Amino acid sequence: MQTSFTPRQLAEPRIAEANQILRSCVHCGFCTATCPTYVLLGDELDSPRGRIYLIKEMLEEGRPAGPEEVKHIDRCLSCLACMTTCPSGVHYMHLIDEARAHVEATFERPFMDRLFRRILARVVPDARLFRLALSFARLGRPLAPLVRTIPGLRPAAAMLELAPRTVHRAASAARRGVHAAPGEKKGRVALLAGCVQDVLEPTINQATISVLNRLGYDVVLPSGMGCCGSATHHLGLEADARARARRNVDAWTAEIDGDGLDAIIINASGCGTTVKDYGHMLRFDAGYQEKAERVAGLARDITEFIDGRLPATIAAPRRLKVAYHSACSMQHGQKITRQPKALLTAAGLDVVDIPEGHLCCGSAGTYNMLQPDIAGRLKARKLANIATARPDVVATGNIGCITQLGRDAGVPVVHTIELIEWALGGPEPSAMRNRA
Ligand code: SF4
Ligand code: SF4
Repeated sequence: MQTSFTPRQLAEPRIAEANQILRSCVHCGFCTATCPTYVLLGDELDSPRGRIYLIKEMLEEGRPAGPEEVKHIDRCLSCLACMTTCPSGVHYMHLIDEARAHVEATFERPFMDRLFRRILARVVPDARLFRLALSFARLGRPLAPLVRTIPGLRPAAAMLELAPRTVHRAASAARRGVHAAPGEKKGRVALLAGCVQDVLEPTINQATISVLNRLGYDVVLPSGMGCCGSATHHLGLEADARARARRNVDAWTAEIDGDGLDAIIINASGCGTTVKDYGHMLRFDAGYQEKAERVAGLARDITEFIDGRLPATIAAPRRLKVAYHSACSMQHGQKITRQPKALLTAAGLDVVDIPEGHLCCGSAGTYNMLQPDIAGRLKARKLANIATARPDVVATGNIGCITQLGRDAGVPVVHTIELIEWALGGPEPSAMRNRA
């Protein structure tokens, strides 16, 4: 793709990077076939290629974002299916990140949109506030159908609809400090406890710590660690996201330089994609760039880390048919496709794929609240595809997908690591126990 940035524009490093990405696109259109918003809406401007053109014009002209660009950029799920499909290696993720930051810096959103985004940016990354908000949302849930009929309040209705039936107490969250492995030690890892995951489904971190301990790894949860920054990053709030990244880099660097770390374990693939990109996020921060690269280099999804480390003979107490739902951030963001299914198979489970497995379920961070109509259509499509596989249980590696699909899937939706822990002698995943 030809671009026409001026030398003065190209002197700006962020524009120079965007220019490189834009020029790598040969506008072949292969990406359109796997883009969920294009598949649903059929509008070229809701395809990766269409968005790339919109972004190119907006940045080349050096003008503020307009309502048309914002509409189509906001509709992008950041699922990154286009990156998996693209034969030219276009780094769409970094381009859409740049576009979102530009929108945030130059576009005045309508009041209600601004309000919802501010609320999400403040509440989602803060476990204490998030738990409190869920308690209120749970009480307000019966009002969701009424709220949905009020123009401008669709995101509020979506928030209420997503609220879980029970809110776990703070005491169930993973304890900060060292969770020591009993017996012979093989190593020491850090675990990103996450923000929403520890509130919505604390058993995921409990299972992760237990599996790592069983394999001989001490697990440290440094007290300075917090949200990875992906929630605000995807809202275009770059300064906030970078501050959160720096905080985690500091917390993990202290551990690396102290008692050492073999890996930084992440069990929410959305967070994994972000942490693995910390080097890029902090590339202009001289004090952090090197440390961020080191941290990113140690980041591993839990399934990546335990692949090849499980005992040869493990077996789930019941032979179940498991439909594996590969979260977009797992398959497209981190390119992890083999390990989760291999581990579940090694645990004696019958693993089946879900048709149209490359398509997003509509969760996409806060997308299901900000774009509830598209998210709802993608969810319905995913649930229909799951039903054709006729599984006993669905396994996935991202809390967002578990929340999006769990209530309406008709079968339990659990985290992959919960099934591995069950196969190693731990408790049955709570979503399965609660359905029994
Ligand atoms: S597949 Fe890649 S090169 Fe082709 S239009 Fe899409 S982003 Fe551009
Ligand atoms: S990230 Fe997903 S929704 Fe966005 S353009 Fe790419 S494929 Fe489409």
